Amino acid sequence: MTLNPQTPIPDFDPDTLETDVEDLYIAGSVACGCETWNIFIENGHVHALPIIADIIRKHHNPLIAGM
Ligand SMILES: Cc1cc2nc3c(=O)[nH]c(=O)nc-3n(C[C@H](O)[C@H](O)[C@H](O)COP(=O)(O)OP(=O)(O)OC[C@H]3O[C@@H](n4cnc5c(N)ncnc54)[C@H](O)[C@@H]3O)c2cc1C
Repeated sequence: MTLNPQTPIPDFDPDTLETDVEDLYIAGSVACGCETWNIFIENGHVHALPIIADIIRKHHNPLIAGM
């Protein structure tokens, strides 16, 4: 996984939160590297939805597709 050398925020797709390692996602304050004051409980919990949506989209798991 590639990190920004300054921040060090992992490289990730902002739409899915998937890193440059396939199927490895980041959620919560790790998405703002050392600037942990930018992502906290109130705006970090929203990371779950795009991650779940992407996993469903990629893997078409019929057991969770109806969630
Ligand atoms: C005193 C205080 C008050 C706060 N009050 C608020 C508030 O009122 N409202 C609000 O929205 N936010 C508040 N926050 C911020 C909030 O607590 C964090 O933003 C939130 O907990 C971040 O959640 P997270 O899951 O991203 O990371 P974390 O909760 O930090 O979870 C990361 C987890 O990863 C584990 N970990 C770390 N390294 C490794 C490793 N190498 N291998 C395995 N596990 C590892 C850690 O032990 C930890 O359990 C407060 C923070 C503090 C310190």
